[in-house]
Parts: sequence; structure tokens; C-alpha cells
Amino acid sequence: MSASKTESIFSNVPDDGDEGMRYQIIRTGPKGIKGPIVTSHDPLGLYTHWAGGRTLPCVKKACEHCEQNVSRRWYGFLMVYSIKQDRQYLFEYTASAASTVVQYWEKHRTLRGAAISGERQGGRPNGRLTLFLTPPKSEAEPLPKAPERVSLLSQMWSVPLSEFLEPQSATKKQAEEFIEQIRPTLRAVNE
Ligand SMILES: [Zn+2]
Repeated sequence: MSASKTESIFSNVPDDGDEGMRYQIIRTGPKGIKGPIVTSHDPLGLYTHWAGGRTLPCVKKACEHCEQNVSRRWYGFLMVYSIKQDRQYLFEYTASAASTVVQYWEKHRTLRGAAISGERQGGRPNGRLTLFLTPPKSEAEPLPKAPERVSLLSQMWSVPLSEFLEPQSATKKQAEEFIEQIRPTLRAVNE
């Protein structure tokens, strides 16, 4: 897009997308994690490869890393809100904690509002991750709206959004339908 001659070269903010990754990624360290509140509604994760010194998404169809037999590792991503910092983060968790997240989601129908705590087995940086999700208290403070994770991941990995496939699990569809039904209630609760 070319700027017209009358347009100033100065601006208060960069163009959309030029700001870089707005949300820092957080993981569970050896000392564990305690307290951030989930702002995303549902679990979302994908397989990744460690290739060329960085993590990259497995794009499944014609994935060059799969073709080279590079092993895959699943990671889940949730937007979480730190009350203390008053900001949101992209929280990454591992396959070992995925069932905990899904079980909570199936029981409570949304992850939003759940407080997360986690620990690493043996207090080791790469010890097996265990997560605990605690339902929100009834007097819980209103939460910020969760940004859309797929576009954040796309931005983080510099992989075009179109290469990500839609999550297709039945439970995901069921939850979306359910959330659609209760959306007015959620709005009343969260806004
Ligand atoms: Zn792959």
C-alpha cells in the first residue's frame, strides 16, 4: 500500500501487526506456577517440531519436518490473566497436563475464570507437568476479553494463519455449540 503525498510519515502507533508479539509466553518453571486466571474458553493445542533451533508448528499436510522424521511434541495454549500484573499472557502447557484441562472444561463447560496452578515433578525444569484448575469464586472480578490464540501463534511462529487447520474434535464442536447457547449469560457474567 503506497501512502499518498499528503499523508504524514509520523504516527502515534505502528500499523496493525507491526507491534510484534503483544503477549509474552509463560511456562511452568521448576518452582511451579500459581494464580493466573484463564481467560480462554476452550483448550487449544497443536503438535510442534523442534527444528533449526526453534519450535515450529506441525502443519500436518506436507509438513517438511514430518517428512524428515523429526519427532513431534504437543503443546496446549491458554490465555491467562495475572491479577498482580494486570496483563494477559499466553500460557503454554504440555501433553501431560492436557487431560486435566479437558476434564475441567467438560465439567465446567468453560475454562474461563479458572485459576491455574502447576508443578514440575521433582522440581526439575523439564519434570512432568501437573496442572490444577480451580473454579472461580462467585465474587470473582471481571476478566479481560481473551485475544484469539491462533493468530497469536501464527504471529509468534511467522507461519501464515491459513496453514493452521481448524480443530475438529467432537468435544470442541459440542463445547462451541454449548457456549453459543449460554453466550448471553456469559456476557452478563463477564462484562
Ligand atoms: Zn510435522
